[in-house]
Amino acid sequence: MRDDLAASADASGPARDDAWAPRPADAVVFDLGNVLIRWDPVPAIAAAVGPERAAAFLADAAFDFAAWNRANDAGRSLDEAERVALASHPHYEQEVLGYRQNFDASMVEEIAGTVAILRELHAAQVPLFALTNWSADLFPFAVERFEWLDLFEDIVVSGEEGVAKPDPEIFEVLEERVRHLAGLDDCIFVDDSPANVLAAEATGLDAILFTGPEHLREDLIARGMPLRHLP
Ligand SMILES: [Mg+2]
Repeated sequence: MRDDLAASADASGPARDDAWAPRPADAVVFDLGNVLIRWDPVPAIAAAVGPERAAAFLADAAFDFAAWNRANDAGRSLDEAERVALASHPHYEQEVLGYRQNFDASMVEEIAGTVAILRELHAAQVPLFALTNWSADLFPFAVERFEWLDLFEDIVVSGEEGVAKPDPEIFEVLEERVRHLAGLDDCIFVDDSPANVLAAEATGLDAILFTGPEHLREDLIARGMPLRHLP
């Protein structure tokens, strides 16, 4: 058997013309928030209490919405998150409950240029994965709204795993989910958070810091991925 493999390797023939072209990755892994879906909690909370109260709530370091949100992304249920918030900050009841009630408004829009990249890669049969920090209770709102989420072979949702980026543990979850196709060092990873990009690089992923769809397209082309140059 080994001899056969060696023989077939020897018979692989002369180098192809594109021998010096980069070898394309086996799969591409996308972050969702602010890479494919623009997310902003202000409009969701403003729908409940108006823009001024929403801004004041989100700026209140004593509540610390970012930390509250991170705990939800890392596996806390929204029921529990709301219970904890209302116990410590009862005067923010409308703000806190308004976030889930109007969550759809926080998904401001799809980032069309990145969705176009996703569709082109899918048409070229590049395996696609997502690795997102998202509350398990709120992720169904995204699935309901963005039909192109079906283009992913698999989506790792932090809230379902109980651990969020940039914790190295979630990259171990990703490794399990892609291993039938590739190792992490054969995958490209795209994220708008520098901390997540650093954590991804430490696991062997070829990580790209997302700054906009035009840059991303050129970065992926430079890595040999099958995308068109835009005029
Ligand atoms: Mg993001």
